Parts: sequence; structure tokens; C-alpha cells
Amino acid sequence: MISHPNDLIGEALRNAERLLLVTHIRPDGDAIGSLLGLGLALMEAGKSVQMVLDDHLPLQFRHLSGSEKIQRAIQGDFELAIALDCSDRSRLGRFGQDAIEWTINIDHHITNDGYAKINLIEPQAVATAEIIATNLESWGLQISEAVANALLMGILTDTIGFRTYNMRSDVLRLAANLMDAGANLPELYARTIYQKSFEAVKMWGSGLSKIQRIDGVVWTILTNQDRQQAGYAGKDDADMINLLTAIDDAKISVVFVEQPNGKVKVSWRAVPGIDVSQVASQFGGGGHPAAAGAELAGELQNLSETIIEKTYLHLLKTQRNSENS
Ligand code: 5GP
Ligand code: MN
Repeated sequence: MISHPNDLIGEALRNAERLLLVTHIRPDGDAIGSLLGLGLALMEAGKSVQMVLDDHLPLQFRHLSGSEKIQRAIQGDFELAIALDCSDRSRLGRFGQDAIEWTINIDHHITNDGYAKINLIEPQAVATAEIIATNLESWGLQISEAVANALLMGILTDTIGFRTYNMRSDVLRLAANLMDAGANLPELYARTIYQKSFEAVKMWGSGLSKIQRIDGVVWTILTNQDRQQAGYAGKDDADMINLLTAIDDAKISVVFVEQPNGKVKVSWRAVPGIDVSQVASQFGGGGHPAAAGAELAGELQNLSETIIEKTYLHLLKTQRNSENS
């Protein structure tokens, strides 16, 4: 009989004492929530755990208890390597290049290429933190208050406050269980969804002033200069993309963010029925049907024109197919 990855993970976690947990670069709430949720639960079970990330920990996650234990380098050996919320090795940053043998890969990205020995990939899950929260107790681990806060934060951020189209009623039940275990929903909501820095909102001004549209495709561009003028410290879009998706007739929203290293970070969002991960894949990126991203080398203006053209063609193709079916 072939064992389910869930059982194999439980067995692997029980049998290992020294574990390495890594999540993806440019970490979002689900990356950090999954890393901390599983990492702290393993620590509380008496294991020796390294929680590692090839990036800075974004400010909005530093209030989480245990976040101070996240490190940027591997120290010492480990028996078992676990990758979280990460669709392929390249998203692990320099740990993806190292000759690490990944034993466990837990993720909800449909584009995950299954690079580990045990791959628990559930594309219908709203967050990797949902998969962890659902299975933690069956893996012999407990949901303490710190673990509950981390996992609820992952679910809350990947669903943008329970409002993405992939939301299911059992995610709300799971969230209620995490609140019962001590998670503070209003505080997590304020710190990771609602509150923005002055600089972030100032950068929105630049992005909003340059907004463009072709039919159902809406997009804007954020340059290094916009970032400097706003005094915004992050390299991300400051959640600009969520402002574009608020436009009622936007079927696909796209934000281009020029990076200090000369590359361009692209984010796509789509309404149900449109799969933007297919467009992102054409440019070496990936993600989910409703939310995808890529990072490319090239000149911002040319690149944005090429990508908008391909995105628009994808919208037309999707609309044509749905008319014919
Ligand atoms: P975001 O636009 O918020 O950066 O990413 C949206 C989704 O696409 C996330 O689920 C993220 O994991 C995925 N994604 C973002 N950038 C990349 C990338 O460069 N490569 C891949 N494979 N996925 C990405
Ligand atoms: Mn995720």
C-alpha cells in the first residue's frame, strides 16, 4: 500500500531530532506563518530546530512571538530539511542552490514541481499554514498560543482577510479553532492586513497616478525613483496590487516593481475563471490561478509592454474559450 504523504511526514518528524525549516525569499505572511507555526510546534516538542530564511524578516511580522528565532544562515548539521510554501528550489534563494536534500515539501502552489522526497502539495488549500494547521496534531504536535497566532496569520494574509475566491467554510472553522487555541484575530488583522506605513501609502500615490487599462487588464508601474521619493524601505509593491483589484471591472491586475538590482518584479491577480499562473510561467514565474508572480531581467518599459500584451492575449483567449464551451 502506498502511504499518504501526511503519514510519511508524521513518521519523518517523529524520527528526527535536528530539523531545518526554510521558506521562500521575499517572504509573505504565509511563508513566515508556516515557518513559525511548524518550527515552534517542533521546538515545543523538544526538537532542535533551525528556522531559516534567505532574506530579511519584514517588519510587520516581527511582533510574532518566536520571530526573533528566525535566522539567515544554517548553523550546524541537521537530519531533515523541510521547505515550506515554496514551489521550486529557486524560490529558496541561496538554500535552493546549496546541495541540500529536501525531505519534506509542504505547499499549496499548483505550480510546485515536487522537488522533495515527500511532497505534500494541496492546491485547494488557501495557505500552506492551512495544511499545517489541519495536520499538526496528527503529526503528534500541539497548537500552543504562539503556534496558533503564526498559523492564523498565514491563513489570514494569503486570503487577504478571508476574502479571496478560494475561501471555504472549513477555513473559517479552522480559524475559529486557532482562536480557541489563543490566536488574536483582530491584532493579526490590524498588523498584517490593515495597517500600512506612511511611506507605503505615499508610494501608492505614485502607482495610482500612473494607472493604465486595456479592457479588463489594469496595471501600473513602480520605479526605484518612486520608492526613493516615498522613502519606502521594502522592495515589494507595498500591496499596491490590492488597490488595483478593487477596481470593479478589472479582470486581471498587474503591478511592475523595478528592483534595485535592475530586475523587475511582476505581480498578477485575476478574478475566478482566469488563470494568471499560466502567464507568469511564460516568464519563468509561477503561483496560483488567482495570484501569480515573476522576477525578470530587462528594461522596465519594454518588459511591461511585452507582459501586458501577453496578459491581454491570455484574457482574450480565456474569454473566447468560455464563450465556446
Ligand atoms: P506576489 O505577486 O504576491 O509576489 O506573488 C503571488 C503568488 O505568486 C504567490 O503565491 C507567490 O508564491 C507566487 N510567486 C511570486 N513570485 C514568484 C516567482 O518569482 N516565481 C514563482 N514560481 N512564483 C512566484
Ligand atoms: Mn502561500
